[in-house]
Amino acid sequence: MKVLELTDRAVLESSIASKRCFACGGPSSGGSGEHVIPKWLQNECSLFDERLTLLNGTHIPYRSLTVPCCIDCNTGFLSTIEGAVQPLFRRGHVVRSEERLALARWLSKILLGILIKETSLLFDRSLPDRGLIVDPGLIDELRHCHFVLQSARKATSFTCLHGEFPFSFYSYKVPEYRKGHEFDLSTNVAGQSVAIRVGQLGAIFINDGGFQMHVGSKGPFELSGAELSEIQFREISARVHYKAALRDATHFYLTFENEDVIQVEQLHVKSFSGLLPGSDELRIFRDWNETELSHAMSAYMRVDRSMIFDEESQTCRTTLSLPPRSDRGGQRPDDRSS
Ligand SMILES: [Zn+2]
Repeated sequence: MKVLELTDRAVLESSIASKRCFACGGPSSGGSGEHVIPKWLQNECSLFDERLTLLNGTHIPYRSLTVPCCIDCNTGFLSTIEGAVQPLFRRGHVVRSEERLALARWLSKILLGILIKETSLLFDRSLPDRGLIVDPGLIDELRHCHFVLQSARKATSFTCLHGEFPFSFYSYKVPEYRKGHEFDLSTNVAGQSVAIRVGQLGAIFINDGGFQMHVGSKGPFELSGAELSEIQFREISARVHYKAALRDATHFYLTFENEDVIQVEQLHVKSFSGLLPGSDELRIFRDWNETELSHAMSAYMRVDRSMIFDEESQTCRTTLSLPPRSDRGGQRPDDRSS
C-alpha cells in the first residue's frame, strides 16, 4: 500500500474505534502497543510514575500511556523517528531544518498518540445508537498531523503557504534546569500543540499548518532559538498553547505519491468563521484575551493566577524581558501573541 493510503486508513473512525494501528490502520499486534512517551525517555528521566491528565480527568502513568500499534510500524519507521531525536536532545540545540523536521516528526507522534487516546476514550463512552461523535474536522486535522509523521517513511516534498513545513515549530535552550527537572511536557489537545523539554532542549510543535509561524516565525517575543530558564520555557509554552487554541482556520491540501516521493501541497486557507468583520481578510485566530491567557499561564506555569495577572492594567505579567524595540521587527507592544 502507498503511504497516503496507510494514512487514510489510520485516521478512519472505524480504525480508531476498533483499536487498529494508529500509524497505518492495520491490525494491531496486541501487546502493549506504542508508548506515547517512549521508553528510552522514561528510562533516561525516570518517568514511569509520572502521569498525563486526559480531558476526562483520568490520570494515566506514562508507562501505561500507549496506543495500538503493529510490529512493522513499531520496529520500523517509528523506531527510526525515535533514533533521530536522541542525539539532538543530547546535544541540546537544533541547527538545521532537517533537525527541526526530525523533532517535529517525533512531536507529531506524541501529539497523535495523545489525540488518539482522547478520541478512543470518546468511543469507549459512546453509545452505538448515538451515531458518529467524532467531529470530521478532527479527522482532517489528524490527517494533517500524519503528513509530518509519515514523511519518515518516504521522501516527502512540502509546498506550504507560510514557510518550509506544514506546521509551526519553535525550539529553545534551557541550559540551567534543576536536578530532577530533566523533563517537562505540556499539551493543548484543542489547539493541537505539544511542548516538551528533555534536558537542555525545549521544543514546541503545533499541528496548525504553519499559522503561528506566519504571524511570528520566531514565536512569542521572537525568542525561538534563545536561552531560557525553566519557567520562561513554561511561559512560552503557555502562550503558544493559548494561541493554538485560538486558531479558527485550517488548510486544504493536495497530495500526490509515486514509488519514490510524496508531495504535500497546501492549496489554500479555510477560515471556520469566515471573514473578519468589515474586511475581506479571513479570520485565522480568534481575538487574543489577556484574561483568558492568565488562566492558561497559571495552569501551565503552575503558579497562582494572582502572580500573573495585573488587575489594574488587565494584562499578564511576563518572565520574558523584551529585547529592545528596534530588534522586534516593528512588533506592537500589545501584540504579545506573535
Ligand atoms: Zn502499523
